[in-house]
Formats: sequence, structure tokens, C-alpha cells
Amino acid sequence: MTEAELQALEGGVLRGDRRSLAKAITLVESSRADHRDEAQRLLERLLPSTGKATRVGITGVPGVGKSTFIEAFGLYLVSGGHRVAVLAVDPSSSLSGGSILGDKTRMPALAASEQAFIRPSPSRGSLGGVAARTREASLLCEAAGYDVVLVETVGVGQSEYLVASMVDFFLVLMLPGAGDELQGIKRGILELADALAINKSDGDNVARASRARAEYQAAFHVMRSGGSWDPPVVTISAAESRGMDEVWKIIGHHRERLTESGDLARKRGDQRQRWFWSLLEEGLKDRFLHRPEVKEAVFEAERAIDALTTTPTAAANRVLALLEAK
Ligand code: GDP
Repeated sequence: MTEAELQALEGGVLRGDRRSLAKAITLVESSRADHRDEAQRLLERLLPSTGKATRVGITGVPGVGKSTFIEAFGLYLVSGGHRVAVLAVDPSSSLSGGSILGDKTRMPALAASEQAFIRPSPSRGSLGGVAARTREASLLCEAAGYDVVLVETVGVGQSEYLVASMVDFFLVLMLPGAGDELQGIKRGILELADALAINKSDGDNVARASRARAEYQAAFHVMRSGGSWDPPVVTISAAESRGMDEVWKIIGHHRERLTESGDLARKRGDQRQRWFWSLLEEGLKDRFLHRPEVKEAVFEAERAIDALTTTPTAAANRVLALLEAK
């Protein structure tokens, strides 16, 4: 890409032109080295125009109603004058090559809105790589003037942790019917949550949902007591678009708190530093372990450990000595 082309792309993104934004995200997602360099040049220029959005992560098991919620919530925000970007981190996409999350056909009304931008999960690379690209895509969306960025993921493996580490606010969607479910849910998720929304609180579910609400709220009081934020638990119906205003109010309240205390800037600063360090560590590891002489030494070390002719410590030291070798 020539300098003039890069400048045109930068201008297009800053104007909020959707085609430029889509093109810029494709550049970020590319596996070609020259594209990646261009993407980084573009991001560095756009950096001063980022950071103004409210970044919200949304998770929940398949079937909980994530896409129904994002459509209803997105339309609610759009009707309030917001511009909404929807991104996704799909842990299955790197295996299947396609992504269900962020699929526009799952949110047809929102996808049709001029004020919304929906992008499916990048489908190539490791989960860490997918998350890194989503993080950069969200910066591009901010530069393009989207003031709310929603990042969707599912409750599988490390994906929630990755998404929680790129957003200001993490919303967990749950199904009504507590008790057993309260036992079954990963404790780690409750620790990440800034709010729980019990979805499908409609029809026959209303009483069950309100019981679940009380149980989760009590669990939070015990688990998160002493913290600076007591995560609210609300009942909503995405299908009936009920509770959207309440969820947005909670996010706004949380943001106000974080902004006043200076915690928002601190949180984002920490996220950036941690992101940097994980890239550095991953890169070091990759580069070292891919050197042919290192591969060979690792192979030898594994054999020797197996044969009980060396200790794991001695074997590791021998491989690591290659770090100093020229
Ligand atoms: P996802 O897999 O988490 O994205 O879930 P979907 O949004 O695809 O929803 C799964 C199913 O639950 C669909 O059949 C939806 O119509 C239904 N659903 C979603 N939200 C609600 C709700 O608030 N109330 C009811 N009754 N059904 C819902």
C-alpha cells in the first residue's frame, strides 16, 4: 500500500465510512506480514482518535440469547442516538474456519441499521491471535466514531478472560432457574462479571427468573463483599426487549464510578500493558522454540528425561543455554 493509499484509508475510517472501516479490519486480520505492518502503521496514526467508546463484553452459554440480546440492546442504543459496533471472539472459529458469533443474519434488524456495524469473529489463528485482532478491530471502530463497542463471546475455555481483558464492563447473560445452575456455573465467570442479566424472564419464566435473581445477588454479596463494585443482577427479556434501559443505566453508572475514581484510565492502562507483555512472551517463546537447533535440543532433552538419564531441571538448563549461543 502506498503512503497515499494509507492516508486515504485513514481518512475514510475517521470519516466513519463503513467500507474503509471494513477494509482496515481486514488488514488487521490478514496473516500477510506486509498487511500487518500496514495495519500497525494505520493503528498508530489512529490511536489519538481511539478510547472514547464504552467497551462492553457479553458472554453466556449457547442458547442463552446473546444474539437476541445484542440485537435488542443495539437497537435500543441506536434509537438513543448511539453508534454501535458489534465484534466477536469465537473460540470455535479457529477450528471450523467460520464463526457463528457476530453473524449478521442472527441480528438482521441491527445489521440493517446505518448506525450499527457488525463484524464476525476473525477465523484464523490461535484464540490469543483472534482476541488480539478483535482488540485492534475495536480500536478501529472507535476511530470511526462508534461510541459503544459490544464484544460477544461464549462461555468456553479462555475466551471470556480474553474478552474481559479488552472491555470496561463485562456482562454475563444467564438463564432463569437457579439452584443447580448456580453450582454448575464456572466460578471464574462470576468473578469477572460486572453485572448478571437473567434473560428470558417472560411468560412462565418470570417467577423462576426472579428467584434466580435473588440467589445470584446473594452469592455476589458474599463473594464480592469489600470490592468497589457490587455487581447488580437484573432480569430481562431480550425477546420482548425489556430491561435494555436498566442494563444501559448500570453500565453508565459503572462508567461514572470508574471515571471519577480514575480507575477507568488505570484499568485500560493495565490492559494495554498486559497485552504488550503477553505478545512479548508469546513472541519470545515462538521464536526461540522454532530455531532448528533448539527444536533438536528439545527433542534430545525429552528423550533423556524419558530414559531417566537426566533431570528435567538439567535438561531445561541445557536447552536454555542455547539462548546465549550465537
Ligand atoms: P445465543 O446462542 O446465545 O446467541 O442465543 P439466541 O439469541 O440465538 O437465542 C436462543 C433461543 O432463545 C432462540 O430461540 C431465541 O428466540 C430464544 N430467546 C432469546 N431471548 C429470549 C427471551 O428473552 N425470551 C424467550 N422466551 N426466548 C428468548
